[in-house]
Amino acid sequence: MRTKANTSENQSKNFTRETKAAAFIRDTLPKVQRCKICGGYLHSHSISIDHKTRKADGGLGTLDNAQLTHPYYNTAVKN
Ligand SMILES: [Zn+2]
Repeated sequence: MRTKANTSENQSKNFTRETKAAAFIRDTLPKVQRCKICGGYLHSHSISIDHKTRKADGGLGTLDNAQLTHPYYNTAVKN
């Protein structure tokens, strides 16, 4: 999901602080992972594996149903 703020940042010719940080991470840590829920960068020490399809909805513990997310999504009540 993109906000209007993100759209305007992308249209600017200048790098934002966030873009520079993202480029640094991209070029220095090629295996960096993004959260599949919010799109934010995941720190290697705080990655959680979440079910794409919730177990309550029949989701299995398979690789296909696994996604990397920030840790707090597993502790919060999901809708
Ligand atoms: Zn996230």
